Amino acid sequence: MKIRNILKRENINISFEVFPPKTEVGYEKILNANKEISKLNPAFISVTYGAGGGTSKNTANIAAYIKNELGVESLAHLTCVSSTKEEVREVIQHLKSFGIENILALRGDIPKGQAFPVAAGFRYAYELIEEIKKHGDFSIGAACYPEGHVENKHKVDDIHYLKQKVDCGVDFLTTQMFFDNDIHYNFLYRIREAGITIPVLPGIMPIISEIQMKRSIELSGTVFPRRFLSMLDRFGDNPNAMMEAGIAYATDQIIDLLANGVKNIHIYTMNRPQVAEKIMGNITEIIKC
Ligand code: FAD
Repeated sequence: MKIRNILKRENINISFEVFPPKTEVGYEKILNANKEISKLNPAFISVTYGAGGGTSKNTANIAAYIKNELGVESLAHLTCVSSTKEEVREVIQHLKSFGIENILALRGDIPKGQAFPVAAGFRYAYELIEEIKKHGDFSIGAACYPEGHVENKHKVDDIHYLKQKVDCGVDFLTTQMFFDNDIHYNFLYRIREAGITIPVLPGIMPIISEIQMKRSIELSGTVFPRRFLSMLDRFGDNPNAMMEAGIAYATDQIIDLLANGVKNIHIYTMNRPQVAEKIMGNITEIIKC
């Protein structure tokens, strides 16, 4: 089923994200993680695309497994920054041959030292979206950044380019992780003002270790509120306590979003079914409201 249609349903939609293994060794483990996550009745499961495209086959295979074997809708991420247009076309055709109906179209981070754009490559996500549309009726999602994209100094420009991207045929947006919901509400206000009216899925990342937090800052430059930092300061050395606190913090964000009328939430559970289960266990009655 196309995600554009899933998002039209009246009910609350909770989706999860997994990432493919870098080597074949971890493959079975990830299939099992997906099996557990699928029991939580997600709206869909998204599968990331390794920077550089080296694991593109794994993304396609896992997305096909989720859809065809587990009976849950899947969303395959696709980046274009490190590939030629021809290579990207091959991946799109490959996804199509597996029956994948949903693609999250991304540019990808520019690898350090790589020429940008690569010869005969796409420069921005909107060009990839234009290409995907030539290959069939996919439901296309794209990324957005409540705190602004790290490369763009000016938030106004960032929203201008986001609008350009959406106008190329995007059905829904998923946000980068954020830890202060007010930033998200402010962002929603600004993009609606700019004429972007498609569904926006807030991306919630349960942070369960200090290493994970440092990596998040490195990747996205996101701001951590004082309340989060106190939690890390007090429980960061104790993995079990930090896991509980991180799940409670993410749950609190989700409840606040739902209480403020948000209907679709994407959780970056990153191959950890136990984290997904605990969060869902905390909101069983809430999501029925
Ligand atoms: P774009 O929309 O192309 O934007 C990139 C930058 O260019 C922005 O600063 C934008 O303002 C600017 N820009 C856009 N259009 C123009 C224009 N016409 N002229 C000038 N400037 C312009 N990375 C992965 O490698 N694999 C994944 O699976 C993955 N999944 C992600 C999922 C989500 C929900 C998010 C939020 C990010 C994900 N990323 C992933 C990271 C993403 O690839 C990076 O953030 C990347 O740097 C930007 O990708 P984009 O598609 O948003 O790019």
